[in-house]
Amino acid sequence: MKVADVSCQTVGGLLSRWYDGTLAEVEADVYEQHMLVCPPCQRQNDKLRVALAAIPAVADVRPGAELVTELLRYAREHGSAGVW
Ligand SMILES: [Zn+2]
Repeated sequence: MKVADVSCQTVGGLLSRWYDGTLAEVEADVYEQHMLVCPPCQRQNDKLRVALAAIPAVADVRPGAELVTELLRYAREHGSAGVW
């Protein structure tokens, strides 16, 4: 995989795996080199970085009893496949 041959769409497909650290070395090199020369992908990368940084600040929210009751009622009426 050469940098010149890589489309933004291909790099976009590598984005989440790059953050997960699961790209092969050659994929990571291509991703990082593309980011040096492609402003649209840099912006996409920046947006994801900001979103990922915000995740730990999100409170652990538990559903209210009314929502749980409604989901259980829905599951009984429609089966669990309808819920998930
Ligand atoms: Zn790009």
